[in-house]
Order: sequence, then C-alpha cells, then structure tokens
Amino acid sequence: MATMAKRLFCWLRWIWRLALLILLVAVIAWLMQDAGSLEISWRGWQLQTSALLGLAVMVAGAVLTVLMDRLRRWLVGWPARIRERRRTRHLEKGLNALSEGMLAMASGDTRQAQKLAGKASRFVKKEPVAMLLSAQSAEMGGDSATAQTLYHRMLDVPETRLPALRALLQQVAKNPDPTVGLSVARQAFALEPTVNWVQEGLLVWLGLNQQWDEADQILQKMITDRHLSRADGQRWRAVILLQQAQQVPSTQQDKRERLIAQAYRLAPSYRPVAIAYLAQLAAQSGPQSGQSESRQSRSLLHKWWGSQPCKELLDLHEQLAPTEPFAHLRAAEALAAKKPLHPLSYLAVAQAALACKLWGKARQQLQAIVDLEPLPDAFRLMAALEKSEHGSKEAAYKWLDKAAKATEPAAWVCASCHHQASEWTAICSSCHAVASLDLAGGNSDGGNDLEDAALASLPAVL
Ligand SMILES: [Zn+2]
Repeated sequence: MATMAKRLFCWLRWIWRLALLILLVAVIAWLMQDAGSLEISWRGWQLQTSALLGLAVMVAGAVLTVLMDRLRRWLVGWPARIRERRRTRHLEKGLNALSEGMLAMASGDTRQAQKLAGKASRFVKKEPVAMLLSAQSAEMGGDSATAQTLYHRMLDVPETRLPALRALLQQVAKNPDPTVGLSVARQAFALEPTVNWVQEGLLVWLGLNQQWDEADQILQKMITDRHLSRADGQRWRAVILLQQAQQVPSTQQDKRERLIAQAYRLAPSYRPVAIAYLAQLAAQSGPQSGQSESRQSRSLLHKWWGSQPCKELLDLHEQLAPTEPFAHLRAAEALAAKKPLHPLSYLAVAQAALACKLWGKARQQLQAIVDLEPLPDAFRLMAALEKSEHGSKEAAYKWLDKAAKATEPAAWVCASCHHQASEWTAICSSCHAVASLDLAGGNSDGGNDLEDAALASLPAVL
C-alpha cells in the first residue's frame, strides 16, 4: 500500500514539473511574439535592444550577484572550516588513542598504555578520561609520584573528582597513613555519601584511627542503604561493639559488659567475639564459684576448644580450672579430650602435669608437641622440666635457646588476603577488610552448632 502511494506521488511530481516546463515555454513564446524594445541613453551613449533581452540581462545580473555573495562567504569561512576539520581529526585521534590505551591497560601492557595516554593527552587534553588514563597508566608503570600529581590535578575537575579520590585512597592504603587516609575518605564522603565504597572506605579509616563511635554511625548508614548483607552487617557491628568495649574505661565495667554481650548476641559464631565473651564470663565466675555461670562458661570453653584450640582459650582454661594441682590436671585432660592430638591440648596437660610433678607424663606430652611443631611454649616447659626433674641447667638452657629461636605461630589469619597476625584486629592491617581475621586453621562453620548453648548463657535482658 505504501509502495503504491509512493509511486503515485512520484508520478504526480513528474506531471507537475512537466506542467511548469510547458508553462515556462508558453510564457517565453508569448514574450517572443512581441519582444518590445529597450532603449538606454546616457551622456551621448545609446543602447537599443529588445525588452526581453534586457529582462534576461537583469535576471542574469541578479543570479551572478547571489553567486558572488556565496563565494565571498565561502572564502571568509575557509580558516574556520580548516580549524574545525583539524579539531575533529584531533578528537578522532585522541578518542582512538584513549580506546586503545584503555584496552592496553586492561591487558596489563603498561608501556603501551602510557604511550597511548601521552598521545591521547596531546589530542584531547581536557577530556576527563584522558587524565584518568594518564594517571592510572603512570601508577601501573610504578611512577606513583606522577600518578599522585595527576590525581590531585583531577580533583579540580568535577567529573574526575570522585575517581581521583578513590585512586588516592587506594594509594594511601599501600602505605597506610591513618590521618591522610581519613582525610581523603572524608572528602569522598562529603562528595558522594551514598556510594558503597565511599561508606566502607570512611568506616575503615575511622576504624584505623580508633574512632569507633563514628564508624558505628557509618555502619548504620551502610545497613540502611542496603550495602551489606544481614549477616555481614551483624558481624561488622559486633566487631565495632567489641572495639568500643575495649575503649571503655575500667571504671565503667557495666557498660563494657553490656557492649560485649550485645556483640555476642549479634555474632556468637565469630570466634574473636566469642572469646571476648568467654573471658568476660570467666572473670565473672572464677574457678571456685561453682555457680551455674561457671559451669556454662566451662561448657562453652570445651565446645570452642573442640572447634579450634588457641592460646586465648588456653589462658581462659587456666583461669577457670580448679587451683588444686590434681583437680587442675583432670580439668586439663577433660579439655584435651575435646581436641586430641592438637599441640595446645598436649600443652594444657603438660603444664598441669608439671605442677603435679608428674615428670614422665609431662615429658610424654611435651615430646608429642616437639614432634608436631616447634612451639616456643613447649620448649620453655621442656626447660622447666629438665631443671625440675634433673636439675640440669645445661639442658634447660638448650631448650630456652630453642624457644628464643623459634617463631611464635600466627594465631590469626585474614580470610580475605591470608595475612597472618599474632593479635586479632577488627580491620586487617594488610588488605583493610573488616571482620576478616579468624583463628589460623579454624573452621568458620564450627561455631554454628555452638550458638544455641552460647546464647543460652546470655542474660535475659541486655
Ligand atoms: Zn587481609
């Protein structure tokens, strides 16, 4: 249907043109019949011709004037057209260099990326992406100083301010300076307070500056903005509560206990929180109390030991176990039975056996540890055993020398970057992940079956 209409329209157009042509020929023929005359007389000069020719000359003159004006305009606009063509060519070359530079950077070809960044900068110097490519390729090439200068220059351009702040934050993370990091994170937050990495960055740098109260406010915002899963939100909040508890002065013991209990209620299967809660229970109950809290804390200790022993739990066991030597030994054996063949289980029994002067038993336990791994604590107990059993100072010094040379095993490991640390921190000192440090060799699922028993020991009202 559309084709028919189009064809009809085409035909009508040709008929119209033909009609116009016929009309023009008819007018010319009519004018030719009586061409008339035109006479011009001026200062003795006379021109006589037909009126039709005069009209034709006038029309030709008008057409020539229009053409001349067009030629003038074309000649005047020549330089501007040359400039525009050159600008378009430069833009095209710059964008091509940018595109190829981005691909080179994504492929890890730093040298090519830098070369193309230089080319792009020559052609499209003010293009925000060109500045970003130059800075990032410089950083990839190891030229941090140039990259930093370029990032600071990018701060002056509204479009590149946020990427520049992000890059500067990543640069600070490589050589952590808490004051600078917090300053950059605050600038980013002032610019874009709802972006996920901005909120997380500010939380991390607040934490690294020990400003946990403000970090808690940022975490609440992250949870409100749905930037964290429910599980992560609870775990991160528990970690912050734990850090806040550690900052509470000793005169406000109630507040400290409340914060730790809150943390434990949120993340009972996260070992650092569980250990802090157990330490609190142990401090409240004591070895001779015989109270239900004491039984509960010992039961909880055994369950966590069965999941993964650690030095902190061993210290808590020493705190909770009876002071009478043989009762202490029985408590140590009961604890060791929860995780047999573990070096710390042997260590718990060995030090209790030493206190009971059961030299053979202590030696057997310590030898088992030495066969497993060079644990400095085991070497120190061996020295004590040699001195107590045989009075041999020489043998004792030999073991003490071994203890001094042995390195303490890393207790904590980051689940994100596998960085090992001797002390737990809320934020990994290597990759700045939050709540990522857990016991080395621990099984994160081990805590799940402990939650019911653990939560049962919490006070009814927090
Ligand atoms: Zn890490």
